[in-house]
Amino acid sequence: METQTQFFRDTWAEINLDNLYENVTNIRKHIPQDVRMFAVVKANAYGHGDVQTALTALEAGAHGVAVAFLDEALSLRKAGIQSPILVLGATRPKDVKMAAEQQISLTTFSQEWLVEAEKQLTKEDSLHLHIKCDTGMGRIGVRTIKELKEIEKCIATHSSFELEGIFTHYATADELNDAYLEQQLKVFEEMLQSLDELPPYIHSSNSAATLRKPNTYFNAVRVGISMYGLSPSAEVKPELPFPLRPVFSLHSRLISTKELSAGEKISYGATYETGEKEWIGTIPIGYADGWLRRLQGQHVIVNSKRAPIVGRICMDQCMISLPDPLTPGSKVTLIGKQGQEEITMDEIAQKLDTINYEIPCIISTRVPRIYLRNGEPTEVSNKLLSSNIDAENRNPQIP
Ligand SMILES: *Cc1c(COP(=O)(O)O)cnc(C)c1O
Repeated sequence: METQTQFFRDTWAEINLDNLYENVTNIRKHIPQDVRMFAVVKANAYGHGDVQTALTALEAGAHGVAVAFLDEALSLRKAGIQSPILVLGATRPKDVKMAAEQQISLTTFSQEWLVEAEKQLTKEDSLHLHIKCDTGMGRIGVRTIKELKEIEKCIATHSSFELEGIFTHYATADELNDAYLEQQLKVFEEMLQSLDELPPYIHSSNSAATLRKPNTYFNAVRVGISMYGLSPSAEVKPELPFPLRPVFSLHSRLISTKELSAGEKISYGATYETGEKEWIGTIPIGYADGWLRRLQGQHVIVNSKRAPIVGRICMDQCMISLPDPLTPGSKVTLIGKQGQEEITMDEIAQKLDTINYEIPCIISTRVPRIYLRNGEPTEVSNKLLSSNIDAENRNPQIP
């Protein structure tokens, strides 16, 4: 019998895996069947929980998962994820042996790296590599056809390497003006044309390109933010081909309520003063949970009504001006729906003057994640982990 991980504070994030499943299903329906989908679960699945997210995405038809770093890939393997895993970022050459042993595909973009990596491997090893092309992002990747050809040759002449893929990443896919993306695409196509042979996986699309630009698909896509039910940008939101269902919500409960008379001060600095008789409630979440001080003034939902955070946000607690006299224990929703009211991730992002991607990432690990599947709390069961999720996908045959 699995039991929910215990925690002893009434602040939690709910991860709605049903919505994640639906988002992945809709993305899968939106792209042609022979285009494979990598579920991007880097950074603990943008704060959502990488193992649970990966399992659900694979169940919904993702072909494999992608992460930023080798550590993340190893931790997924350790949890029992058997699908293809691609590391999108750089890996130190001295660490490649582990990747080869665990059948984790790595990204390469320099010949010197290959030379160093090769020293770690033996004839029996087969390290699967994707070449990263920098077509205009200016981050990692090969920039010239000359470098690309050198890398191709180096991989082909070393039996411990296997060229599995080639990819690039767009800088402006989430903007309505496609000019720069088209320019990057053209550079990528020229790079592909220079290869002697195309590797099995060719991919360039992130969420925004996957949702809006079928000409970027090649034969695989890498989807992160939209799987989590968030729009890649405010600009493309009206253009989305299907509704995205938010996966992450954040909740707490009132731990103290009191009626204060006019002129009473609230929190550090005594910056807030009650104007008249006012009910003040305290919730056990603060900036150490990623509920940043700059969220002072932001609304939460309690008793199905919006209520503002008043006074400075403390490390572990903050105060709200209650819409009604309430008793401790009442549920407070900081992100998500309660009754008819909703506070979206986009609203919090706007308040913090940033993008929605950043918000679930900064809700710290001190906040427990509760996973909901089929409407019920669930835990990753060992049965699920040891099952052969996508065993047939391990050695993909791409047409
Ligand atoms: C993070 C990342 C993605 C996913 O981007 P989304 O906009 O979240 O879909 C895809 N490719 C690379 C290389 C990434 O780093």
